[in-house]
Amino acid sequence: MQISESKRLFAHAQNFIPGGVNSPVRAFRAVGGEPLFIKKAEGAFLIDEDGNKFIEMINSWGPMILGHNHPMIKEAVVQAMEDGTSFGAPTAKEVEIAELIVSMVPSVEKVRMVNSGTEATMSAIRVARGYTGRDKFIKMEGHYHGHGDSFLIAAGSGAMTMGNPDSPGVTKGTAKDTLLAPYNDLDAIEKLVAANKGEIAALILEPVPGNMGLCLPKQGYLQGLREICTREGIVLIFDEVMTGFRLAKGGAQELFGVTPDMTTLGKIIGGGMPVGAYGGKKEIMEFVSPAGPVYQAGTLSGNPIAMAAGLAMLNHLNTHPEEYARLNHVGELISDGIMAINKKLGHNFTVNRLGSMYSMFFTDNEVYDFESAKHSDTGKFGKYFQAMLHRGVYLAPSQFESLFLSTALTDELISKILQAHEESMIEIFN
Ligand code: PMP
Repeated sequence: MQISESKRLFAHAQNFIPGGVNSPVRAFRAVGGEPLFIKKAEGAFLIDEDGNKFIEMINSWGPMILGHNHPMIKEAVVQAMEDGTSFGAPTAKEVEIAELIVSMVPSVEKVRMVNSGTEATMSAIRVARGYTGRDKFIKMEGHYHGHGDSFLIAAGSGAMTMGNPDSPGVTKGTAKDTLLAPYNDLDAIEKLVAANKGEIAALILEPVPGNMGLCLPKQGYLQGLREICTREGIVLIFDEVMTGFRLAKGGAQELFGVTPDMTTLGKIIGGGMPVGAYGGKKEIMEFVSPAGPVYQAGTLSGNPIAMAAGLAMLNHLNTHPEEYARLNHVGELISDGIMAINKKLGHNFTVNRLGSMYSMFFTDNEVYDFESAKHSDTGKFGKYFQAMLHRGVYLAPSQFESLFLSTALTDELISKILQAHEESMIEIFN
């Protein structure tokens, strides 16, 4: 693999961009080596500046659910460009996409568009606080809700990968209102609620967390959270920035049959453009300005190009249930294949999967929360990442991320991925 142009760009980038990248995990620090600079992407492939071609297993961290540069989305974007790139005024497309999201996501009766998942979660917490008149909220250890100050406490994803889950720069005053709980532990929530009676505005979580590697909710866990929040008047927020429109067209809430009070969304709604959204019960969303007193705004919110891309994506997913069957099938073929190869080679590493999201952890222990995820041997993961990359398979450059598969992965490509997996495992462990 020739990587001279990526190397040159990375060295140059470090003169002008902190760490040479615009988002930390991209720097490949957790897996060794240097990042590849990507020139373009098509279907199931990424192509770097040196012309190397990789099979995609992250898909822009989730949104490219149908693969890269899908003709339908490209056409919608090009058409929208004809009419201008931003108006800062209401458009018909915003109404159309809002109506569509309301029809697809069970908890969402009204929705507000923003520009990233970070904005969606920051805004949702503010609204929940405004609605309840309470300050504190519960967050799960190892869950990631973007880089808003109050979420950078025991945060997953890049914060966990870089070894600073509690970021400097977050004041003690802010941090004191974020109450932490381990995921999958209802007793811990009961204790927090009892110790902070009447003071908790919201409980936010990734219903199926992907930011400490993929973990699954234990039987009855999400239902249990729903019951506690209803009983205590706490706004239950599902952060479905990754799971929304991916695990099912109505997200994890549809799949598990548990309806939160509010939902945060992102990525997929933009079809790859920078978009996020938050929504929920009418009575709560009516608190958002200008309907209500909780202020939240955005010059580029509901941007016409982003809305065009998102509408193309969501309309397609809404009318093609077979895409979800395919996503599930792709996920099953890959995770079953990996487990069968591991068994043949005498390994028993934990593979967590739901639909088209999965993680393989370099530990035999069950992985179901922040602490159990940390048992994974990240040194081994780094070697595995590099071995796969050299065989043309592009994984997320951190153990503490989920992989996101797309419908563009054909059975033939899946065979190649599995062959690369087998060779990589042999290389690492022999
Ligand atoms: N919430 C979750 C669950 C996420 O996974 C992410 C990002 N991966 C965010 C929020 C933040 O989204 P963004 O990076 O678009 O700000």
